[in-house]
Amino acid sequence: MTDCIFCKIAAGQIPCNKIYEDDELLAFHDIRPAARVHFLIIPKLHVASMLEVTEAHEALLGKMMLLVPKLAREHGLGDGFKTSINTGLAGGQEVFHLHIHVYGGGPVVK
Ligand code: 5GP
Ligand code: ZN
Repeated sequence: MTDCIFCKIAAGQIPCNKIYEDDELLAFHDIRPAARVHFLIIPKLHVASMLEVTEAHEALLGKMMLLVPKLAREHGLGDGFKTSINTGLAGGQEVFHLHIHVYGGGPVVK
């Protein structure tokens, strides 16, 4: 996906404030944080949204979810945090490359 901003970040073509990387996943601080701590976890593989996931992504999705509490604890969110996955235009998604928002460290906004 040559015009996908998160693919470009995953490829190192656009800089990010990286907090984690392995062969399949990348995590970095959100450029417009909605809380004191706000980072995103993405697969390096281009998957547009939760509407595109299949059983082929099962292990990848599990790996993303397991990374959530690990990175949250490392960023001082051991007391709790929020996660969200916006899906589709109707779900408020702006960047069409699957990502999990993890945020906290301030008042919880429902
Ligand atoms: P969405 O509404 O798609 O779930 O959220 C996309 C998020 O990506 C937004 O919170 C936005 O601030 C963040 N974002 C968009 N472009 C960039 C970027 O170039 N770098 C970083 N670090 N975050 C971005
Ligand atoms: Zn992408």
